Amino acid sequence: MSDNIQIGLILPDVLGTYGDGGNALVLRQRLRMRGYNADIVEITIADPVPESLDIYTLGGAEDYAQRLAARHLLKHPGLQRASERGAPVLAICAAIQLLGTWYETSEGERVDGVGLIDVSTVPQQKRSIGELVTTPAIAGLSAPLCGFENHRGGTTLGPDAEALGTVTAGVGNGVGDGREGVVQGSVLGTYMHGPALARNPELADLLLRRALGVESLEPLELPDVEKLRRERLAAAH
Ligand code: GLN
Repeated sequence: MSDNIQIGLILPDVLGTYGDGGNALVLRQRLRMRGYNADIVEITIADPVPESLDIYTLGGAEDYAQRLAARHLLKHPGLQRASERGAPVLAICAAIQLLGTWYETSEGERVDGVGLIDVSTVPQQKRSIGELVTTPAIAGLSAPLCGFENHRGGTTLGPDAEALGTVTAGVGNGVGDGREGVVQGSVLGTYMHGPALARNPELADLLLRRALGVESLEPLELPDVEKLRRERLAAAH
């Protein structure tokens, strides 16, 4: 890793509903506040995807944009190579669906995914919209996770994928198993917008610890973030 941590904001021009690009800003700010040099590298649909970045973030999208993104990532497999060497990848909503094996569009057409994670997605009868809260199910996280969900797809995890959390409010992956998000290898996915990392600083630091290869990071006292969390958690329950 160079002295300058490179945060990949992947396809913000097609994957970026609800301000998901803010996840890259949060990562950069939390690094800079601790004295690291960090930059955001924006990779648009006109660019090949580099495999050399330190951490990658992908946002949610409408159905058509999601398909363009899947095609682009299959054509330029830099993200898949980076993930193989362990670079953390944060996938929000549509990005979970397109990094999976396949997903079905609202019109019932099956689209090949990138195949990085063992999940498949089919549209549900009803759209899931609203506040989402979970209890984390993976080591390294203890605080409830929260965000805003808006998706029609319901995602089933295969045997190689684990859930990120167990739903306490809202819908989550949407197939009736009470699970939310996905963790497999270096990929961590969630249906939470917010942006997710602004609302879940513990999750941001988990990704940063993995990117930096460190056991711990200097704590940050950010009362406004705690206030936002209290307010959103109260709104959800
Ligand atoms: N288009 C996908 C769905 O409706 C993802 C939506 C999103 O990313 N917000 O399931």
